[in-house]
Amino acid sequence: MLKIFPLFSGSKGNSTLIRSEQTVILLDAGFTYHALTNALSERGVAPKDVNAIVISHEHADHIGALPMWTKHTPTHVYAPAPIEDVVRQRVYSSQVSAIDGSFRIGDIGVETFECSHDATCCFGYKFTCGASKFACVTDTGCVTDALADFLRDCQAVMLESNHDEDMLKRGEYSYRLKRRILSPCGHLSNAQTAEVLKKLKGSCVKTVVLAHLSENNNTKEIAFNSAVNACLSCGVVEGRDIVIYVADQYKNEVSLCLD
Ligand SMILES: [Zn+2]
Ligand SMILES: [Zn+2]
Repeated sequence: MLKIFPLFSGSKGNSTLIRSEQTVILLDAGFTYHALTNALSERGVAPKDVNAIVISHEHADHIGALPMWTKHTPTHVYAPAPIEDVVRQRVYSSQVSAIDGSFRIGDIGVETFECSHDATCCFGYKFTCGASKFACVTDTGCVTDALADFLRDCQAVMLESNHDEDMLKRGEYSYRLKRRILSPCGHLSNAQTAEVLKKLKGSCVKTVVLAHLSENNNTKEIAFNSAVNACLSCGVVEGRDIVIYVADQYKNEVSLCLD
């Protein structure tokens, strides 16, 4: 059994609570310590209950709360090996373990997927407990068969749907920033996420959480409709064959339970 609670997701901060009956994991610790502990308390979890924090990469929206968290609670931190030193510099009393392959935290197995992102190293993760499998991949700029294959055997996936390309191109960001976001080392657009969903036709995936939406270059409605239409083009009907949620930047409102 796995329960998944996206606490907050977006360009400002990211953190997802993943728990089995025995183990409690935080995937990323973005935003602020107060935002994170408040969101956790809404789910009945105190910082001391968290067994491990798993970090995807070193950008501030994924590790912003880490210094203050580890000052208060010495939770074990797992980080991709190439950013182990960077993460170690930001934690107080916590132990840091370098990830360079599959590993295990309590009764949850963890596998990695190497994202294409302008960080030193960025991992997506798959969490397995018994027959329950959940993957989260954000902060990646490429749609590949390897990405679809990583997600294929999960009942639920959390997948980046960062921006609407037209909104981004017409928006006020600098040319340089637009180029960064649109590049193969940037973020997945709604259209790219739609491509991934089409590749997942016939897979185990029955629940999708769209994540890491840009507040300036996307809306929940546009991202949702893009994903729904992609599924529909494959004969997969949202609400019947698949359920699609959109994670919020501030509100902790989606909860998944995989048996
Ligand atoms: Zn990033
Ligand atoms: Zn990010």
